Amino acid sequence: MSYRGRFAPSPTGLLHAGSLAAAVGSWLCARHAGGQWLVRVEDIDPPREVAGSAEAILAALPAFGLQADDRVIYQSSRTAAYDAAFAQLQRAGLLFPCWCSRNDLAPSGGMHRDGHCIAAPAADRAPAWRIRVPDEEIRFTDALQGPQSQSLRQSVGDFVIRRVEGFYSYQLACVVDDAWQGITDVVRGSDLLDSTPRQIWLQRCLDLPTPRYLHLPLVLDSQGRKLSKSERAREVDAEQPMPALRRALSFLGIRPDTAAMHPSALLDAALAGFDPRRLSQCSDHHLL
Ligand code: GLU
Repeated sequence: MSYRGRFAPSPTGLLHAGSLAAAVGSWLCARHAGGQWLVRVEDIDPPREVAGSAEAILAALPAFGLQADDRVIYQSSRTAAYDAAFAQLQRAGLLFPCWCSRNDLAPSGGMHRDGHCIAAPAADRAPAWRIRVPDEEIRFTDALQGPQSQSLRQSVGDFVIRRVEGFYSYQLACVVDDAWQGITDVVRGSDLLDSTPRQIWLQRCLDLPTPRYLHLPLVLDSQGRKLSKSERAREVDAEQPMPALRRALSFLGIRPDTAAMHPSALLDAALAGFDPRRLSQCSDHHLL
């Protein structure tokens, strides 16, 4: 199958240095492989959404020379597909309703490992729905971070598929859409490295293919904290795109020797000598 990559921003804030690095990294890998690069707006969490941020992110990408090869997908329009995946998991007997509060889960470190709800069902309250996880190591080899292994039972426990408010979890929506969009290669920040075993488990439960994964180093602020849109990290300036684009490339370990004046020319120069295996691996970079 030919390479299909993607950039999947959540509209919880504006495009910041960390998300630009993920966009550029995934774009370079896709172009290097002669493949396609898709954009998906992960707007499945209305309470965390910042009005106007999806539009602002989508408007910024072309200013940095990043053009999607197909129409943009919005997860808010994909509920029927998540309903179908939910029903499939339910038919397979993998889900259970859960009324547990934080207090109920405090003795087990906030994790749910019993395969069934330990609180009393509440007739007046909707439950969350969790998936039972296996007592086995989920292993995969990340193209940059190397071999990975995680016991879902030990590390995350039975995790939420549908929240009390009725919203589907990021893990479910991401897996359903990566498969539906035919994504062969997921390139994203290493803040999501520990979501990958949950996603691989869901792919197995739903009979979906597992893409290859490459987790880029994480962009940290000058205090060593993860840059996060929701913490109002500074927006990259799409009107003066060159400095932020140069910083994103240099963060990824790419320093093209070029006097390029435009984002597309700079990206082309970066692509010319690009080798995904030589992307910077270090996960404690500062980029402010
Ligand atoms: N929507 C997630 C974010 O903005 C990224 C999801 C992914 O790449 O799988 O952090």
